[in-house]
Amino acid sequence: MPNAQAPVAQSKSSSNQALRHDWNVDEITALFDLPFNDLMFRAQNVHRENFDANEVQVSTLLSIKTGACPEDCKYCPQSAHNDTGLEAERLMKVKEVICEAEVAKQAGASRFCMGAAWKNPRAKDMPYVLEMVREVKAMGLETCMTLGMLDGDQAQALADAGLDYYNHNLDTSPEYYGSIITTRTYQDRLDTLSNVRDAGMKVCAGGIVGMGENLRDRVGLLQQLANMPIHPESVPINMLVKVEGTPLDQVDDLEPFDFVRTIAVARILMPTSHVRLSAGREEMNEQMQALCFMAGANSIFYGERLLTTDNPAADRDRALFNKLGIRPEKRQDVSDEAHIGAIEQALQDVEDEQSFYNAGA
Ligand code: SF4
Repeated sequence: MPNAQAPVAQSKSSSNQALRHDWNVDEITALFDLPFNDLMFRAQNVHRENFDANEVQVSTLLSIKTGACPEDCKYCPQSAHNDTGLEAERLMKVKEVICEAEVAKQAGASRFCMGAAWKNPRAKDMPYVLEMVREVKAMGLETCMTLGMLDGDQAQALADAGLDYYNHNLDTSPEYYGSIITTRTYQDRLDTLSNVRDAGMKVCAGGIVGMGENLRDRVGLLQQLANMPIHPESVPINMLVKVEGTPLDQVDDLEPFDFVRTIAVARILMPTSHVRLSAGREEMNEQMQALCFMAGANSIFYGERLLTTDNPAADRDRALFNKLGIRPEKRQDVSDEAHIGAIEQALQDVEDEQSFYNAGA
């Protein structure tokens, strides 16, 4: 649905090339089929035209309500349909969330993402959730939430409370979606994203690869995202984390280069979006992550847990940043010396501890 609040940056990329919203399957497939080096070169060019290639945006994710979700997403340990032994937890108290946000801020995060395993928030949950947004926002952090489906009123209430981003992933192509989730439809997902846009919030939407889908499904997912009237500002590309007890725990591994290709094609199709190297980093070595950054990924989650699965510890991330000469992206809308100082101090601490070659020096 067209949105009157399209940011100016969405009408043209900084290289003055018009952003496209009309990609067809053949064009996207042709990008995936490029020789790897050609694809990487093209993605790097697009990336450098639109971003500082050595900056990566850093977010921290907190599960504010864990498990017992009524949806049947086949990849998810939080689904009540999947017997993974995960212990369900009730909605966290607001002050506990604030403490976690403070820790994240001190560790250098610029955005604090709060996730709840719900089909949708209930009316009685909304006051607590809105208070979390107000308090975290007041700390000078960007705010993001993922709470399941939203109606228009809920989206507006979150926007009014100061929520910057709402995450709602499309997961996969429309064609493969029914093999992964049956308790809601693709159109439900698109409707929530429209409600988020209409409320004036930024959209975080991406998907998961390695779920047994084929290339055509990866093409279809990126086509859906890239042909939205406004590209999602944040595009998380997740590698499936196979959790025992989920229906996908035995699915074949995805060829790692196919994952890198997915990042690169996302970068080319959505030049001004932050493409997030998201779940699955724990299983990637440093070289693989570096390839993803070269392919145009410029956002990560930072911290030890990614909702309910492991994420590389913050120290290891900082060490990798140092090796690659990558800097955490500063928030553009807030001048916060304490925040920048925390990032610089954290990087200095790691430099002092490491004896490896420092590409950033
Ligand atoms: S992915 Fe989200 S909606 Fe699906 S089962 Fe997990 S928590 Fe629920």
